[in-house]
Amino acid sequence: MDARVRDINTISILDEYLFESEIKKNREKVMSSHHPSSVSSCLRALYYRWKNAEITDPTQPKDIWRMYMGTWVHQMYANLLKETGMTVEAEVELTYHDERLAYPIHGFLDNMIVVNGIKYGVELKTVFGYGAKAIQISGKPREQDEMQMKTYLSIMPELDYMIASYLARDSFYRTEFMFTMNKEERKSFLDFIVSKFMRLEDYVEQNVLPDREYQVCIKDREFKDSVQYKNTKYKSDWQCMYCNRRSLCWAEELNSFEMTLPVDGEGVSRRNSDDTIECSAE
Ligand code: SF4
Repeated sequence: MDARVRDINTISILDEYLFESEIKKNREKVMSSHHPSSVSSCLRALYYRWKNAEITDPTQPKDIWRMYMGTWVHQMYANLLKETGMTVEAEVELTYHDERLAYPIHGFLDNMIVVNGIKYGVELKTVFGYGAKAIQISGKPREQDEMQMKTYLSIMPELDYMIASYLARDSFYRTEFMFTMNKEERKSFLDFIVSKFMRLEDYVEQNVLPDREYQVCIKDREFKDSVQYKNTKYKSDWQCMYCNRRSLCWAEELNSFEMTLPVDGEGVSRRNSDDTIECSAE
């Protein structure tokens, strides 16, 4: 065999490259604006981001591949919209300054289209087939997406409508929802956005860690999607399970041998010191 031949695995090489690049990107990130998608984010998670706190649960290569795939699908979607002949502006940069905030709200709207003189913002959401099916069954967009659509309508008065378009990247199931708001609704939602970001800026300025906004199940010193305990099934919030600083946020509970379960409506976790033999984690 040729002496130059090496037993290489391109997937491993790319996985490692993507993982290291993501870590480097996050380490070097300096926050200088609020993002429209942050309106529905956990205040504590945003605080960690602004403080550039240590990332204890980095995004894994599988999820980075998923993000890359999402970016390509976004480009394809914009190109297809253009091919239909309609007026399309992709990746529309927006910066909104509000005198109540020290930092602007800044982001990129996926697409802006004009049909019969009406301006529509179009945000594409790539999801899995089961997620798309759940959206179809509920007949409603995801809450965080609705908040983002309302944010765009509130800070971009030139938009008449916003469209949240869902595309399943496995089954290619697709559906979409259209939103609009009158002047008063836009103003009141803008006040809501600004008050959230004002609170965040205060916490960051004062070095005060905000309360947690979501809950998890922790058993045997590990995060669990759900835990069955005494005839009740407890579920972790997906926001925490996807949070890349969850081990930092829940460090004390993770270091305890006791079990942590969500408590409905109280916004706090319960440490349960009962005999855990009765518990089973899924
Ligand atoms: S782990 Fe959950 S509560 Fe903690 S910062 Fe992340 S999302 Fe917020």
